[in-house]
Amino acid sequence: MEKFLAGYRAFREDYFKKNRAMIAELMTKRQSPQAMMIACSDSRIDPSLKFGADPGDMFMVRNVANLVPPYAPDGAYHGTSAALEFAVLVLEVKNIIVMGHARCGGIDALVKHQEKAATDFVASWMKIAEQALVRARDAATPEALQRACEQETVKVSLENLMTFPWIRARVEAGKLELHGWYFDLETGTLHVLGQDGAFTQV
Ligand SMILES: [Zn+2]
Repeated sequence: MEKFLAGYRAFREDYFKKNRAMIAELMTKRQSPQAMMIACSDSRIDPSLKFGADPGDMFMVRNVANLVPPYAPDGAYHGTSAALEFAVLVLEVKNIIVMGHARCGGIDALVKHQEKAATDFVASWMKIAEQALVRARDAATPEALQRACEQETVKVSLENLMTFPWIRARVEAGKLELHGWYFDLETGTLHVLGQDGAFTQV
């Protein structure tokens, strides 16, 4: 933990001092992020590090395998759906980015059918991605299957976003754009989902 406390002290000395005016202005206004991102909780994925986002730029949700569940207003504790509702209806974000990533532990467990090791919550959560595994099953090698499943998971999350009526309505009205991204940290490359359904490196 000492590493993090030292990091905090460095933040106070450097970033905070240099950006004090910007931060003060930011904190006195209501937040107005341009985008919401749904990314994986994986400790190696740090969206603000990779995309130059400053405080206030990006409303962030991170969960296991960057999944969006289908719309289900059933009174259960839906953390991701609650964040979506707040970002879309209150903050009125103009963009939602679902960002998958290479070597995702959640997808690895799904592909190897090991997600059941964590049965209280992870197994049922990963059911959201089962359709992605079905679509990826023709991949030729285990590595290709993993990658295809990671990318299909992004598409499943995007499809599920459209089951939220207030997201669908805004997308159809041109007020909200949905984006599928896939980041490969090993090669440092970002791949963006196009209209053709393929991910292309940008
Ligand atoms: Zn992951």
